[in-house]
Amino acid sequence: MAPQLDGYFKQVDTLSDHFIERLRKAVAIPSISADEERRPDVVRMGQFLADELTALGAEVEQRPLGKQPGKEHLELPPVVVARYGNDKKKRTILVYGHYDVQPAGKEDGWATEPFELTVDSKGRMYGRGSTDDKGPVLGWLNAIEAHQKAGVDFPVNLLMCFEGMEEYGSEGLDDFINAEAKKYFVDADAVCISDNYWLGTEKPCLTYGLRGCSYYSVEISGPGQDLHSGVFGGTAQEPMTDLMRVLASLVDTDGKIQIPGLAELVAPLTDDEKSLYGDIAFTMDNLYESLGSQTSIYPDKEKTLMARWRYPSLSVHGVEGAFSQPGAKTVIPAKVIGKFSIRTVPNMEPEDVDKLVYKYVGEQFKKLNSKNKMTCTLQHSGKWWVASPKHWNFTAAAKATERVWGVKPDLTREGGSIPVTLTFEQATGKNVLLLPMGSSTDAAHSINEKLDKKNYIEGIKLLGAYLHYVAEEPMTN
Ligand SMILES: [Zn+2]
Repeated sequence: MAPQLDGYFKQVDTLSDHFIERLRKAVAIPSISADEERRPDVVRMGQFLADELTALGAEVEQRPLGKQPGKEHLELPPVVVARYGNDKKKRTILVYGHYDVQPAGKEDGWATEPFELTVDSKGRMYGRGSTDDKGPVLGWLNAIEAHQKAGVDFPVNLLMCFEGMEEYGSEGLDDFINAEAKKYFVDADAVCISDNYWLGTEKPCLTYGLRGCSYYSVEISGPGQDLHSGVFGGTAQEPMTDLMRVLASLVDTDGKIQIPGLAELVAPLTDDEKSLYGDIAFTMDNLYESLGSQTSIYPDKEKTLMARWRYPSLSVHGVEGAFSQPGAKTVIPAKVIGKFSIRTVPNMEPEDVDKLVYKYVGEQFKKLNSKNKMTCTLQHSGKWWVASPKHWNFTAAAKATERVWGVKPDLTREGGSIPVTLTFEQATGKNVLLLPMGSSTDAAHSINEKLDKKNYIEGIKLLGAYLHYVAEEPMTN
């Protein structure tokens, strides 16, 4: 039977101004994790959350994470963990969000003060952190409050994990999650993360996959110092020439990766998976708009989405040590470092990818018969993640979405990475669902970040409705 949600939904509408005020208070705290000077504000934001949660009757703890690696004078902001409800008869859902934000300043080109929530006539609420990720984090708190005020029994035990360093690589969080998986988080039945976005602006989605990323450097050096081409051009083998040829050998104009063996690591496309792409609300015009051009590789939506979500891609990012200013400097750089990365997908094991990359780059360089020296190294790698969208955690979220938005959600993957997703899955062994609140035009990380009032208020209904459906969904998968 469908859960009784009308009283809860009505209460959310009644409290909507109050919920927007709560978001206004949160946005006003400039909790920028990348900025040392702002560390007290990050801590203040954690305290704000802890106080709000305590007032709602949750058991709250602020867990220290120790010193920041490489900046030993700085204490990392605490992870705020909280439990609401401890009824053995109910399921327990673990939710994650982050209370830190990206840097922002009016001088970057914001139309409004980034740390003052500014609502325009179309209901767009501008402010740093509005959509990433303070709106969704407060969504959970608001859902608790609306249940209390509506007198509706809270359907699950809610475990919350809110961190303050997400925008700075989630320093210290992996160890914390791994340590708490069998302690604080031990009775979690499933995990839900609200920290991504709809594919477009009209249709909600559930996200079940993310690509990984392996990032490499190719360093080529020869001369003892930079040289002048008028004096030494034609007399010395040039590192930059070698590097260009090596980089050019990695991928072709249509994005086809030239590294032998890599394509064989990719999981084959099944009919089941293929059938998910047709209905997705996405058009080539959406792509052209985001690209700002019509320079797409594929002419159709399905191939484009697959290329973004379920096939690897290789991008060349830059060259360190190269002349990159305007003008016509005649330098011969003595040492150059090319940077490229591969977005990885199931079933590419990062170590296998590394081996194939090193082998291929080594061979390409060898073919040049150059006297220069080349080394290829991995800078960092994060693994891909994919969950079954047929798991009860997803089917419950799909029903909740349909109930709130009146439409079946798209099942999407993303081309980027949210590393904490895989950490939660591996540490807890439970299904992880990505349930976004905001839409594709929210400009997280950019200037004029916003969250639409409608997405916030309906999003609060959605998070609450999800908890009701996930409390009852048969645990079949
Ligand atoms: Zn975020």
